[in-house]
Amino acid sequence: MPIVKLQDTTALPLPDAVREALALKAGDSVSMEVGDDGVLMVRRMDLSGPAIGSDPATTPLQQSIHRKNLATPMGAIKGVGPKLAEQLAKKGISVIEDALFLLPHRYEDRRSLSKVGRLRTGFHEVFHAEVFSCEAKTTKGGKHFLEVMVGDETGTVMLKWFRFNPVFMRKTLRVGRNGVFTGEVVQYGFQKEIHHPEVEWLDEGTDLAALTAKDPLNFGRILPVYPLTEGLHQKTLRKVMKEVVDRFSADVENHLPGGVMERHHLLPQDEALREAHFPGHDADLARLNAGATVAHKTLAFDELFFLELGLALKRRGVALEEGIPFQVSHRYTRELLKLLPFQLTNAQRRVLSEIKNDLMLPHPMHRLVQGDVGCGKTLVALMAALVAVENDYQVAIMAPTEILAEQHFLTIHRWCDALGIRVALLTSGMKGKAKTAVLEEVAAGTAQIVIGTHAVIQEKVEFNRLGLGIIDEQHRFGVLQRGILKRKGLNPHILVMTATPIPRTLAMTVFGDLSLSVIDELPPGRTPVETRIAFESRRSQVYGIIRDEVKNGRQAYIIYPLVEESEKSELKAASQMAEHLAGDVFPELRVGLLHGRMKPEEKEAVMGAFKAGETDILVATTVIEVGIDVPNATVMVIEHAERFGLSQLHQLRGRVGRGSEKSRCILLSSGHLSEDGEKRLRVMESTNDGFRIAETDLEIRGPGDFLGTRQAGLPDFRVANILRDGRILEAAREDAFAVVEKDPGLVSSENFGLRQELARRWGGRLELAAIA
Ligand code: ADP
Ligand code: MG
Repeated sequence: MPIVKLQDTTALPLPDAVREALALKAGDSVSMEVGDDGVLMVRRMDLSGPAIGSDPATTPLQQSIHRKNLATPMGAIKGVGPKLAEQLAKKGISVIEDALFLLPHRYEDRRSLSKVGRLRTGFHEVFHAEVFSCEAKTTKGGKHFLEVMVGDETGTVMLKWFRFNPVFMRKTLRVGRNGVFTGEVVQYGFQKEIHHPEVEWLDEGTDLAALTAKDPLNFGRILPVYPLTEGLHQKTLRKVMKEVVDRFSADVENHLPGGVMERHHLLPQDEALREAHFPGHDADLARLNAGATVAHKTLAFDELFFLELGLALKRRGVALEEGIPFQVSHRYTRELLKLLPFQLTNAQRRVLSEIKNDLMLPHPMHRLVQGDVGCGKTLVALMAALVAVENDYQVAIMAPTEILAEQHFLTIHRWCDALGIRVALLTSGMKGKAKTAVLEEVAAGTAQIVIGTHAVIQEKVEFNRLGLGIIDEQHRFGVLQRGILKRKGLNPHILVMTATPIPRTLAMTVFGDLSLSVIDELPPGRTPVETRIAFESRRSQVYGIIRDEVKNGRQAYIIYPLVEESEKSELKAASQMAEHLAGDVFPELRVGLLHGRMKPEEKEAVMGAFKAGETDILVATTVIEVGIDVPNATVMVIEHAERFGLSQLHQLRGRVGRGSEKSRCILLSSGHLSEDGEKRLRVMESTNDGFRIAETDLEIRGPGDFLGTRQAGLPDFRVANILRDGRILEAAREDAFAVVEKDPGLVSSENFGLRQELARRWGGRLELAAIA
């Protein structure tokens, strides 16, 4: 479908170009949408197509009614007043559709009641019991709590309240009173306890049957328990959800192809939603809680299918493009291998042959090379670059920071000099004549390899014959930059490199349109970095370690999370600390400071001095996270380690252990770590395997945080859980790719609904992606 983009157009009439490109006649309909980057998308609407969705009975009119219903504000639900509506909105629930896709995060079995004697530790249990005693007590520390013994004919259990209203509690918790209690059972010694249970009092003479009859939403069934309920009562939310689901689930349309649904035994979407929110009496509780019911699978599949469908189209678009088939003559690559003081690792060799195979095809390569810190990606990139140079094409290498670009330049320039290849550096810091000279060389094609920051893709830069674009540390660039780099040449090959060891399932979604190569081996002779957590109280010992290393001729990094002290945080600023360290702690040592807000020349000077061994300690912010290579540095101290992501810590740590000496990384922490926080950091002590670390990070923090920003291109999933649903993702991917394989433009009438729904979900992102 032709798409025309108008830069920042705010007013119509429609330009002729658009009219022509879309073959628009008077009376035709178009839809317009402003994309993320402020570009207006104009799309021709084909209203004459067949019925929408896989349900042939759905007419466009019905469809628009469904859409409207799903967009109904939450205030329309009984019991949702302005205050509750606002609370819900804060949690991202503004309209009916949001609520429908807020699934329970666990389920509680209230189909029958447990006997007190059979309560299981670690489970949420529901049971009927009588109050035997009720006592207010005080802990040794002087805190009040309420201890209530309840039981039935099979045993007793202790209930405790640490926050309570004494008057109210004494009134309600009368000895001899009967109730239904719900809560998580914990074990202390021989005593089973439940803290802050929910209580439903039974009036004199009522039993569970009566209670269930009176309140069928909350008793005698499997109950949904919703996330995000801070400040909200489950009971309230449950009531709201019940109405939402009863009234509106039928408005959720089904878009998956019938064949796909049959093959995977999926339910229609509306049915799946009803079952996931309010499971039937026979549902399997364990499966529900694992998110493994057919209903859950259906909803996750739907979400992942449309994601993969979009990626498949992107990938397909690339595959159909004409590219530059290279020939592999080995002229420079063989020469370089001879010059290297070491052998390529097997993994490097394998990935290189994957890259070479791509380069020889008449379609542009789109490949992601993933490999742990220090696995030797730069060399692989250089080898690929040499193939392009052998074919008389230029290469652009893009790095996320000036420091890294300079570092690449130094490394690559050194090898290329020996081979007689001209390498140029281009950064945004460059000015005047120097810059003009480089730009001229790039335009003339005499600069065969151009290394730089995003300066490489600025408008003024014109390549003579760009044949290969290499992007290092991809997760810092958006998809957009990839697209711009691509347009600097005529469909050049693109190689993306990342040191973030993205778990496979995640890589498939984030970079799903790229082919994936993994360097899963480090060069031999590396000594793993020994990592230890140290608390504030041991700071002077940590300084002692640094002093010892420096005495032995080594160097050290001290890393800070921030550049300047912000009002809100208590973080010690790198610049203040550098002064303190240089003046008070290590007056006899040479301390350098490196942070992101320095001018490029300053940074270069500081890095240069550290590399040359003219400074002993480099105090730095995370600007050194990627790619800096100083083998003589053997200690890294990371302040406020708990503030960093695990993968980031791993990247930072990769700056040491680059030589043959034993290296150490010390994670300093303030000592006020949460349980999760400590668990996270301990992973760093226990392994040097970037993939394991990434998996753990992903598990603890979730995919959104894991990659840092939305820019990373990671979609927010409503239902799917990328850790849990790996198998579903793979199945959805296979089906989505098969659909696109058969009908690359989704133009057939049976795919009309798919195409529409895809456009709705991906919005403008798909078109942007298509040029990327
Ligand atoms: P990264 O994958 O983190 O970018 P680099 O490309 O910076 O890693 O490589 C780290 C170091 O390992 C560099 O000093 C590089 O010269 C060296 N290196 C690369 N490949 C090999 C190899 N096959 N054997 C030994 N050392 C290697
Ligand atoms: Mg690197």
